[in-house]
Amino acid sequence: MLRLEEKETKRNSRWTLQGMIRNGSLVIPNPLNSHQERLVPDYLEALRVASSSQVSSPIFSHYIVREAIGPIGKKKYPAGNIEYGHLQALHGEESAIVTLKTHYPLYDGEVILGIIAGEEGNIGAPCGNCRDLMLDTMGGRPEKLHIVSGAQTGGLAIATDLRTYLFEEYEQVDSLTQSIAQEVELIRINAQEKMYDPYSPPDHPYPERIYLAGISDGNGALFTAGHWVDADYHPTYAIENAIVQAGSNIFMDHVVILSHNPNGQPPHVMYRDRQRLFGHNQKQEDILEKQLNPKIILVNESGGELQIWQTTVKEWLPLPFSADSFGPFREDIRRYNILNLR
Ligand SMILES: [Zn+2]
Repeated sequence: MLRLEEKETKRNSRWTLQGMIRNGSLVIPNPLNSHQERLVPDYLEALRVASSSQVSSPIFSHYIVREAIGPIGKKKYPAGNIEYGHLQALHGEESAIVTLKTHYPLYDGEVILGIIAGEEGNIGAPCGNCRDLMLDTMGGRPEKLHIVSGAQTGGLAIATDLRTYLFEEYEQVDSLTQSIAQEVELIRINAQEKMYDPYSPPDHPYPERIYLAGISDGNGALFTAGHWVDADYHPTYAIENAIVQAGSNIFMDHVVILSHNPNGQPPHVMYRDRQRLFGHNQKQEDILEKQLNPKIILVNESGGELQIWQTTVKEWLPLPFSADSFGPFREDIRRYNILNLR
């Protein structure tokens, strides 16, 4: 039950709140649960502060992202996207995490992130890289980051938490087909020359995040890569590098991921890499004029044992951020893809 003043807050606000949860790869509306009901004043404050945020400086996209962040029951601070360099951006969520760590450096409880997200009822879609950052900032406990999305004008706002944006529930597979086993072998052989990483510590905290990738075009070509990182700690990840290897060949039948972590976990493919693959798949969808959802095969090899899982390009990035969020500009991108990539 809502306390009286919370009911008053809710009625007097320009936003009304509804929940949303993920079930498998489906994201479905859900009434606020009892914990979320208690967070209503925090959700509303986060939206109110976000709606007046002036942090954003979008010099290329002209797209103003308004966000706010703060712990439950404490003051919320504004955040926004800051663009720089050439088409480079500090995203609204990155700015928000810096804001949180600046004002509450030692806080490790539950946090509210407010996002002004276009029309009412829309749910904000952080990119894969921001999901990586938010997950680690929450110490691997995504349920601690509550995300509320609302329109500048008010109306229906959607409350959920970071779990809605994550997917790790892979289907286990008993064995590899002969052709996939050959691809795993090719990726393994290429491992040394495809990865550049003198900066990983010997006691790496996340061995499951060290992986190699192979993109098969379904026509005999396999583009393999690992991550590259230099002293500036701005790595390019394995899938991103495999896409670069493929060059103008944008066709993708399936993707194979190989890790060698001793704990037997599936390779933890960074959400930024999943994001890049999602965008890459959209290009071939535009060219072939049909929906495609290539399979991902994940293999971990440890102590001579293979463990295998599978998912798809779309399943492992729920509520994706993509060009589809850009309204009519999406059609310009489709035309560009058809003109330049076909
Ligand atoms: Zn982002």
